[in-house]
Amino acid sequence: MLDTPRFTEITPTADIRGDRHGKRAKCLQRLVRMDLPVPQTVALPFDTVREIAEGALPDLSTLIGIFDGEPRLLSVRSSSETPDWGGPGAVLNIGMNDAAHAWLSNTLGDRVADALYLRFIRSYAIEVMRLDEAPFDTATTPLEARTVFEEEMDEPFPQDIATQLGAVLRAMARAWEGTSARLLRQAQGAPADAGLGLVVQRMAQGMGPGQSGSGVVQFVDPQTGAPQVTGRYLGQAMGRDAIRQPDKAMFLTRDPRGPSLEELLPEVYAELLEVGARCRTRLREEMQVEFTIDQGRLAVLDAVRCPRDARADVAIVTALARDGIIPRAEAVSRIAPAALARLLHRQIDPDARRDVIASGVAASPGAASGKLVFDPAAAQASLSRDEPCILVRRETTPDDVRGMHAADGILTERGGTTSHAAVIARGLGLPCVTGATGLRISDRARTVTLPGGAILREGDEITIDGSSGEVMRGTVPTREPALDDSFRDLMAWSDAIRDIGVRANADTLADATLARGFGVDGIGLCRTEHMFFDPARLTVMREMIFAEGPEDRAAALERLLPMQRADFTDLFRLMDGLPVCIRLLDPPLHEFLPGEGEGTRALAAALDRPLSEVKSRISAMQEYNPMLGMRGVRLGIAVPEIYEMQARAIFEATATVQSEGTPIVPEIMIPLVTARREVELVRRRIEGIAAAVRHETGVAFEFKLGVMVETPRAALRAGEIAETSAFLSFGTNDLTQMTYGLSRDDAGRFMSAYVNEGVYPEDPFGTLDVDGVGELLLLGAARGRQVRPDITISLCGEHGGNPESIAFCRLAGFDYVSCSPFRVPVAKLAAAQATL
Ligand code: PEP
Ligand code: MG
Repeated sequence: MLDTPRFTEITPTADIRGDRHGKRAKCLQRLVRMDLPVPQTVALPFDTVREIAEGALPDLSTLIGIFDGEPRLLSVRSSSETPDWGGPGAVLNIGMNDAAHAWLSNTLGDRVADALYLRFIRSYAIEVMRLDEAPFDTATTPLEARTVFEEEMDEPFPQDIATQLGAVLRAMARAWEGTSARLLRQAQGAPADAGLGLVVQRMAQGMGPGQSGSGVVQFVDPQTGAPQVTGRYLGQAMGRDAIRQPDKAMFLTRDPRGPSLEELLPEVYAELLEVGARCRTRLREEMQVEFTIDQGRLAVLDAVRCPRDARADVAIVTALARDGIIPRAEAVSRIAPAALARLLHRQIDPDARRDVIASGVAASPGAASGKLVFDPAAAQASLSRDEPCILVRRETTPDDVRGMHAADGILTERGGTTSHAAVIARGLGLPCVTGATGLRISDRARTVTLPGGAILREGDEITIDGSSGEVMRGTVPTREPALDDSFRDLMAWSDAIRDIGVRANADTLADATLARGFGVDGIGLCRTEHMFFDPARLTVMREMIFAEGPEDRAAALERLLPMQRADFTDLFRLMDGLPVCIRLLDPPLHEFLPGEGEGTRALAAALDRPLSEVKSRISAMQEYNPMLGMRGVRLGIAVPEIYEMQARAIFEATATVQSEGTPIVPEIMIPLVTARREVELVRRRIEGIAAAVRHETGVAFEFKLGVMVETPRAALRAGEIAETSAFLSFGTNDLTQMTYGLSRDDAGRFMSAYVNEGVYPEDPFGTLDVDGVGELLLLGAARGRQVRPDITISLCGEHGGNPESIAFCRLAGFDYVSCSPFRVPVAKLAAAQATL
């Protein structure tokens, strides 16, 4: 194998590689190949820079000899493999010395020569030699600056360009190896041995007689991505001065607010537009171009991918595809799913000032501001006054759902990514921060005590950012979501590419409408318990729970039946023939009952029973471990009338909608199964109801009965369970909880410590644990398929919206994933990317 040369001049044919010389060097070569006026440049590969850091400088006289011209002034910039990994800042004007100063004084005048020399001495002293900045503050001439340098260093200021360049290269090479630089880039995903390349470029002076200056231009609006020339130009300046001093700099395009480069130098301006257009087609990207005008002549120093917001990114990338510059599949692959998620929600304005007072788990994305309220009634009262509010709870329970509907955001002291608050908030598209463990919430005093001891009271304004987990004081400015044509194109292209279905977890018409708007393939999980939290229904539900005997219970269920029937009829109509998977009631019944106090008294009054009786019935229903207790199919077997009512409602709705001409085959899903016998018992009753409804309505409909695999045993016994199931849907929230023996509602308390200590690589409730839970998925799917090859396999836990988990499901051959409506776009994009 041939060794890479220790440095290479960038010419159209030179062997310059992004993975050896870095992205900047590669990009500069592309600009050279496009015949743009790029000053002479030499690239140092990663290996050379590593050797320099270790003390072995290459022969600089040969390197310097490559550059012609008088005086020989050079710049050095970093060139890492990926721009996000950073790198030390540029050093300009290397080679400035007394002789260059004299030459510049003669040709460009004393002012320019002094300014360049002063600037170089300062940056050499501070950035290269690491001297303190303060003593240089008062040095306003090169002579003064040299004196300070010589006093601090006890040696003369170097006059030799090789000495200067050697020191610069060494300082930059070592800065890259420093601990903080290493940690920063590793946080951006850089490997431990990531290399740094350096590019040495001849300076194109932006200072001198005639029209000289420098600027930065981009051809799109960085916030919207719409075509628009933006940037600044500053006369008698270099580097990024024009950006650093925007009030001194001029506009590029004509602007009523002041002079512009377009008016000052129309030909150079036209040339710049041409550079932008050529970069776009040849580099297949919107670039930000750094340029210098050297006595009226344009030089292109550098071009980087235009910095941009998520919204602009989608607009830019889809426009490149629409213009035929990149294929659609590439457009799909270029958008980061996390960036798309940001687009769907209101975001904190990145330029806004933020006073962060606490942080927790980023449980449901988006930003919201409002007054603090401490209970659901106060949230509803705020809504009626049209006053935005943030509902703060230690943790939420089904009793809070109405209040959550009324609130603009949710903040809880406990919980994690799949706790009650998180799941409901994601379903509602509400920003939510859970597990803000530093907060102390007192419902009684209606206060929140912050980590530092400060106290917030009811009515105080806060802002939460459910995308970062931050809690801020006051109202922080936000940006609206942008679901424009670019977004729609991206979704349509993802749909055309992906080969795994994406359904939504939708419980209400509002969820389902939203999901259809995002173009889902169906509903993968309708959690029917969420249909009972409306106040009128909750009372009937509670009557059913408190029924003295089968007759009373039947009477209450009789009243719930038409409500459920209407729910399903509406849902089927809305979904218009797309599959709808309905889960029978899952939570323990006491979740429908009020907690202590006022609620219990109101319930006693509503039921017309003595308070003491209501209290003792509630306490008799308490369980030590409700998530492992009387819930899911256990409820269906112990109190079969509930599932029978639900099945009847589903079938009657099916008969109605089918008679209207919409074909529908409802999917009925049994939660928390552990054994085949459970499925058989439920199946027998449901088939009986189906036969009865067919007979009563005269409509011959079909249905599918399947199982939610949420317990490790169901995954292990998937073979025999499949014998009596049309589909298996992995409920990975409970399956993760049960596989780890880790409460999804309490894990937030120690999860960050666990992840920081490397016990778990990530929160397994957010990203599927491929090694453990994933193995159960593979095993369950294989055993199920062996018995019933055409069985439908899916995942409907919160992982259904997580890109890595979606890729896993696709590889495992799952038919679809199902996630909250707001996560559907991200899931579709991730599903498409998984195929590329
Ligand atoms: C699950 O357990 O993964 C699931 C989807 O059900 P729920 O979150 O309602 O328990
Ligand atoms: Mg579950």
